[in-house]
Amino acid sequence: MTCKPKNVAVLGSTGSIGKNALEVIAASGGTLRVSVLSAHTRLDLLIEQAIKMSPDCVIATCDETASSQDWSRLPANCELLVGSKNTEKVVRRDDIDVVVAAIVGSAGLQSTLAAVAMGKTIALANKETLVMAGPLVMGLAQETGANILPIDSEHSAVFQALRTGETNEVKRIILTASGGPFRHHTQKQLESVTVAEALAHPTWKMGPKITIDSATMMNKALEIIEARWLFDLPPDQIEVVIHPQSIVHSMVEFIDGSIVAQMSPPDMRLPIQFALHWPHRRDAIGKQLDFSENMDLQFEPADRDRFSALELGMEAAETGGTSGAVLNAANEAAVARFLNEDLSFKDIVPVCQTIVNRHSFESAPSLERLLELDRWAREEVNRWVHT
Ligand code: MG
Repeated sequence: MTCKPKNVAVLGSTGSIGKNALEVIAASGGTLRVSVLSAHTRLDLLIEQAIKMSPDCVIATCDETASSQDWSRLPANCELLVGSKNTEKVVRRDDIDVVVAAIVGSAGLQSTLAAVAMGKTIALANKETLVMAGPLVMGLAQETGANILPIDSEHSAVFQALRTGETNEVKRIILTASGGPFRHHTQKQLESVTVAEALAHPTWKMGPKITIDSATMMNKALEIIEARWLFDLPPDQIEVVIHPQSIVHSMVEFIDGSIVAQMSPPDMRLPIQFALHWPHRRDAIGKQLDFSENMDLQFEPADRDRFSALELGMEAAETGGTSGAVLNAANEAAVARFLNEDLSFKDIVPVCQTIVNRHSFESAPSLERLLELDRWAREEVNRWVHT
């Protein structure tokens, strides 16, 4: 019996997750097929990817960049769609089986929601979707039967470890954090952190936004909120531990005290492959752990006073409602200002804290309200002047 390949739409194909997803698809022995690719501004790379992977269509989400691009090398049988609304339209197509949601930031929310509304399988890399609108997204997934499979390495680890027990046997989940490049920095040293220093992550090679988020620990804060909705666990059942080697990707503790951990070298292709082939496993395409050499695994408590972003993440996971959307938007805008050398590193988290505290909270917001607050929080960050 030959099985029809699964058709995959890779939204955000030119970013770090998108590129890794295409490697996983290329190594799938024909069981996965790219049918849609989307990119925002790296359109030369998008065309290269289209030549290599033969999708049915590509989407250029930024009208302005698309209009000045030379499309003559795009394969003749590949349709070109321009404009971000097309990602929402395309994921609704009947022939799409799996959507890789890898558009960075809140820009990925609408297309992910459209895929959830259609009951598709979503390989979710865009954590902002759940951070902003966790209850809406998970509620809709329950109605439509959409499977939301995490690509975030920590959540993939938890998802895998959860398969060893029953939901009512889970005591807590333990998210690991590398601690980023500044985990031993003093407060004074943090004041002079440069963009180049913050972009040098010790264990993971990722895009600029998530690398800065790792350095501030805001990435872990967002992951706490993501886990809260994805696994439907209250924040007091979510813990964070510092693990500098990034070998243990996260753990689940069961009520009998057993802790199940998922381990592998840090390589995003593994969680992507797990999600794309779920519920089956496939042969490894990356390096595997080598126990013929000495290996040290360290774990350190994550000090919430020192890493104030964690406290902020726990609070937003606890209060729910509009908090996650405001925190996420404030952080995106603050990181953009830092990358632009217009805000100091040590101010990123306090700016977010101030704006979350200042917003008018709602416990059960509509999507429109969340998008409104997303805009408001960005404006507030851009008006923010250090005093
Ligand atoms: Mg992660």
